[in-house]
Amino acid sequence: MERRITKEELHAAVQEAYELYRKEKSGKNADYIPYLANIDSNLFAIAICLPGGEIIEAGDSSYRFGIESISKVATALLVLKEYGANTIMDMIGADATGMPFNSIMAILLENDHPSTPLVNAGAIAAVSMVRPVGEAQRKWDSIRHNINELCASNLPLIDELYKSESVTNHNNRAISWLLKSYNRIYDEPDLSLDLYTRQCSLGVTTSELAVLAGTIAGGGINPVTKREVFPAYLTSKIVSMMASVGFYEHSGNWMFSTGVPAKTGVGGGIIGVLPGLLGIAAFSPPIDAAGNSVRAQKAITHIAKKLGLGIYNGETIVIEEHANVLC
Ligand code: GLN
Repeated sequence: MERRITKEELHAAVQEAYELYRKEKSGKNADYIPYLANIDSNLFAIAICLPGGEIIEAGDSSYRFGIESISKVATALLVLKEYGANTIMDMIGADATGMPFNSIMAILLENDHPSTPLVNAGAIAAVSMVRPVGEAQRKWDSIRHNINELCASNLPLIDELYKSESVTNHNNRAISWLLKSYNRIYDEPDLSLDLYTRQCSLGVTTSELAVLAGTIAGGGINPVTKREVFPAYLTSKIVSMMASVGFYEHSGNWMFSTGVPAKTGVGGGIIGVLPGLLGIAAFSPPIDAAGNSVRAQKAITHIAKKLGLGIYNGETIVIEEHANVLC
């Protein structure tokens, strides 16, 4: 079944979601990373990236904030590209944990397996796999280059965030060394943890995140630069991971209510991907108990419902410039 929506409808839905939730007060900034506690809770932005690279945006869409766990999607793609999907399945896995993003219990229950590159354990394992193993600077260059290619940008490190997270990331240190004891980390644990912390501390805007999501929606071709960032066959792999664990222990509820595969970060960002159609991003610092931005969730949910978007709908949606007016 094919259905048409217009760019005007997309603009209107974005604006409506922004107006509806700009006064939303629920949720609370993450505070286990001290830097995040001090970000203005009123910040709010929504952006959609269309296949032609056009961005539809509302609110503080050029404010730069910590990418946090959304970086896991980028580095998962990098190692999928470097090693192939089967090897990632063997060395990390692709299972939902049903548990918080930083769960140690999940590692124990998964029979010493890090589960998926989209939770902390699997993300640290993914960073450890980035080539060339053992060479921190070259690995970092590769991680950054890959994120920049996905976002069509040059993301700066937020130094204060990096320092704030580095001195408080004891739980992640425990994860890295636990993985070591199970032979599930593939480079030096402290080096891997440091690179993971750095990638989480990159500063990104909501518009840049929409481009990242748009690149995945575009099957690996960045809609702005038109460059191929990853091979098309990896699209279904990364989107399936986002759908199964992108909201951690709330992933089932999220997919049930929106049908939009998405990934969140405790900095307040969320990206959503509708393959073949568009990438969406939203941002606002206050998060819920699972670490997912409250306003960003509401905004994306509103837009998806309003326009009938979602991967389970069995429809092909075509975006038109203008509605066809029948005379
Ligand atoms: N850097 C954060 C951490 O490891 C990322 C968590 C998140 O965004 N869910 O705790």
